Amino acid sequence: MLINNYLLIGVMEQNNSSPTSQLLASCHDLIAYFSMEIGLSHQIPTYSGGLGVLAGDTLKGIADLGVDTVAVTLLSEKGYFDQTFTDDHFQQEHDVVWEKERFMQRVPHVVEVVIEDRAVNVTAWKHILTGAGGHQVTVYFLDTNLEENAPEDRGLTSHLYGGDNTYRLRQEMVLGIAGVRLLRKLNHFPKKYHLNEGHAAFLIYELYNELHEVHDEAEKRRALQKLCSFTTHTPVAAGHDAFPVEDIYHFFKGKMPQELLASSVRDGKFSMTRLAMHFSSYINAVARKHQEVSKKMFPEYPIHYITNGVHVGTWASKPIAQLFDKHIIDWRTHNLELRNAIKIPDEELIAAHRESKELLFSYVKEKTGVDLDPEVLTLGFARRATAYKRADLLLRDIPRLKHLSNTVGKIQIIYAGKAHPRDHQGKEIIQRIRNLARELAPDISLVFLENYDMYVASLLIPGVDVWLNTPKRPLEASGTSGMKAAVNGVPSLSIPDGWWVEGGIHNITGWNIGYEFSSADDEDAADADSLYWVLEHDVLPTFYHNKKEFIQIMKRAISLNGSYFNTHRMAKQYLVQAYTRNN
Ligand SMILES: *Cc1c(COP(=O)(O)O)cnc(C)c1O
Repeated sequence: MLINNYLLIGVMEQNNSSPTSQLLASCHDLIAYFSMEIGLSHQIPTYSGGLGVLAGDTLKGIADLGVDTVAVTLLSEKGYFDQTFTDDHFQQEHDVVWEKERFMQRVPHVVEVVIEDRAVNVTAWKHILTGAGGHQVTVYFLDTNLEENAPEDRGLTSHLYGGDNTYRLRQEMVLGIAGVRLLRKLNHFPKKYHLNEGHAAFLIYELYNELHEVHDEAEKRRALQKLCSFTTHTPVAAGHDAFPVEDIYHFFKGKMPQELLASSVRDGKFSMTRLAMHFSSYINAVARKHQEVSKKMFPEYPIHYITNGVHVGTWASKPIAQLFDKHIIDWRTHNLELRNAIKIPDEELIAAHRESKELLFSYVKEKTGVDLDPEVLTLGFARRATAYKRADLLLRDIPRLKHLSNTVGKIQIIYAGKAHPRDHQGKEIIQRIRNLARELAPDISLVFLENYDMYVASLLIPGVDVWLNTPKRPLEASGTSGMKAAVNGVPSLSIPDGWWVEGGIHNITGWNIGYEFSSADDEDAADADSLYWVLEHDVLPTFYHNKKEFIQIMKRAISLNGSYFNTHRMAKQYLVQAYTRNN
């Protein structure tokens, strides 16, 4: 069999002059990128937030660089969810309605995966991404909604992160196992499988079975390691998928190999992260600080780091992109060129940012009826609403915030963000923020935009003056919205966590919040105090009384951070460190 031959050749140190290996080389992609969610555009709602948008931005970066790659994800036919609110500001979730046929084509192939005691048929929809230089990357969206499947199985690719733990387990079987089978049917034999988070780790099960002609377990592990590269995305233990081992027995019908169980099971749970780590030659965290935390969580494995980035062509607002077109040669194909943003004339950057601000404010007016004032310092905060991100840190001391706004310089605030349907605490945070709008008026205008997605992000992030980020340390693995802000000349006001440890230089690229050694006793109070202090002494005075310096900070955000925290730099690091180096 072709597949086994290929893998065996890999095991036996490939002899490049053999006719078989040359033939095989012609259909090798360098990379197969597997991710539970991929966010390419707001019109393809198969993502929930940071992880998916990063996956989409990564593939766009890879397409710009011209690297042969295929990607595999789930169709998520009903999306994550659309967000609305009840009259008392409690989040409501609705299925997303979208027309996949407008963006993708069904492939004629169907593969089978046995889940529990039924064969589930899986097909895929194909979307082609074209990079800035014309290179194409194909993304396959797996789909189980086929008539021949049992009703229960038809729904396996309908809701992203929906259902219970066993729904997730079955979805991950589809992603990893059917994903590899489908690639084989389509004649893809990639050299590397990039597991973007543990969700995709069952692809190791499939590759392991393809290697059935190798009997030595150590040799098998080395062969798999050669093929796999793994990125971990969360420093929160609960964020790592782990399934009761009985569920693994049940849904795999006892077929999970002993070797995979031994490497993955801890305390009766089958850990997708451990499976991925044990069989990958390269393991990375997504920022330098995240590497430290990850090493402590998984001391048995060597963990490197490649700091995340964003796709500049996607996230530069229209007015900013036009400004770059005028002043920065080849910025779309060579993001490094953004270093030259430092030379853009001040008044042109102000004008482009003002345009982004007006585009945002007319959207706010249309959605909420609120008139914001473009002369007023506008803070933006939008991300998944969950406790550690502390969306409400800024609102901890309302009298102090009002006092700042009334005496030092006016402030207005725009929020957005969804809470996971089962994160009740997250929903309460949103409710509290939405309720506070009334209490802040008329001193401070606060709006909370509904249904944060890539479209809202594309207006909100470039349109505010300062991007606020207040996670509890060290729980933000990287964060990427601040990078999108930087590309648009919007400085961050941020806790030094995640990417900001690397990108934040106080009063140069933005502002740091939080004392170096804040007492752990009341971290929230200390961080809030620091936040108000920095607003009072640095952000507001610079914005209102030293415009020239504020513009320099905006420019440095682009040239120091936009030129670096992008997926061109990031994808090149993956190429050298994860994909092509012999680890
Ligand atoms: C960029 C983005 C995120 C991630 O932002 P973080 O700063 O990493 O939390 C989430 N949702 C959407 C829609 C985004 O565009």
